[in-house]
Amino acid sequence: DIVENGGGKITSLSPESHKELNRRAIIDRKLLIALNHHNLQVVYQPLFDVASGEVNMYEALVRWEDDELGFITPDELIPIAEENGLIHEIGTFVLEEAAKLATDWDKKGHPVSISVNSSVREFSNSRMRDKIIEILRVTGCPANRLQLEITEKFAFQAEEEQSIVQQMTELQDVGIEFTLDDFGTGYASFRYMQHLPISKIKIDKLFIQSLMTQSKTQQLVEGMIRFGKSMGLYVVAEGVETEGQFELLISMGVDAIQGYYIGIPLTAESITFE
Ligand code: C2E
Ligand code: MG
Ligand code: MG
Ligand code: MG
Repeated sequence: DIVENGGGKITSLSPESHKELNRRAIIDRKLLIALNHHNLQVVYQPLFDVASGEVNMYEALVRWEDDELGFITPDELIPIAEENGLIHEIGTFVLEEAAKLATDWDKKGHPVSISVNSSVREFSNSRMRDKIIEILRVTGCPANRLQLEITEKFAFQAEEEQSIVQQMTELQDVGIEFTLDDFGTGYASFRYMQHLPISKIKIDKLFIQSLMTQSKTQQLVEGMIRFGKSMGLYVVAEGVETEGQFELLISMGVDAIQGYYIGIPLTAESITFE
């Protein structure tokens, strides 16, 4: 998009890139204000556990709607927040909301846990573990009711590795389980699995989308499930939208199913229990 002259100097931008950059700049500028004014929201999407035949977990997903910008999707928001450092504040907000809700459910007798997305970047802050333990303490949330999903968008630096592994291991020791999210799409899946205390993998929705139409994808998903099981992991499939996908994945042996077929993400107030 950037037009360069011979010397590599930027001389002009296409109108689209200009608009994109502008939107990015506005998001960047408005995010802190939105956080301070509690304009971000968390929605929760159910996960169906095959063995029990019940929804025993929800995934927390951040939402932001701004008067001027409209809906800002997490895919747009998170990379900007990772860059400007506000990812830590977003993480705190979502963790607090999730822990409060899980505690509320626990008190009402619903044994349901909530998993929160976090980027490995957040663990490069050496206080991540302390922050989570403090949130559990303040909210009174049982540790096993809060789980974390990590994405492999980043390859961590060797120098960071020890601190990341240590913090995650200490969290696991108090009862917090980790899921490796978007499994199969990143370049670091196996490296993460080798070093990090992960007990679940979540097969990316990209693979589920072509599960019924491509035999290669079907073999790949079967292989991922078999691999996960052989490592003793709990295997989740996300992005499941149809009965056909649901049935096939269950016959392949997945442990849990997430997607519009089970339920869309809902606000805390709209979630009901039988
Ligand atoms: P993810 O963790 O893999 O979450 C699954 C995404 O798939 C969510 O998008 C969800 O709304 C969407 N989804 C669920 N079921 C279906 C389905 O049946 N079909 C299709 N096509 N999509 C489905 P969302 O909420 O837009 O989030 C996108 C990504 O942003 C998440 O991917 C996660 O990596 C990240 N994210 C979301 N909330 C947070 C957060 O609070 N913190 C961090 N660090 N990342 C977040
Ligand atoms: Mg996730
Ligand atoms: Mg995912
Ligand atoms: Mg994703």
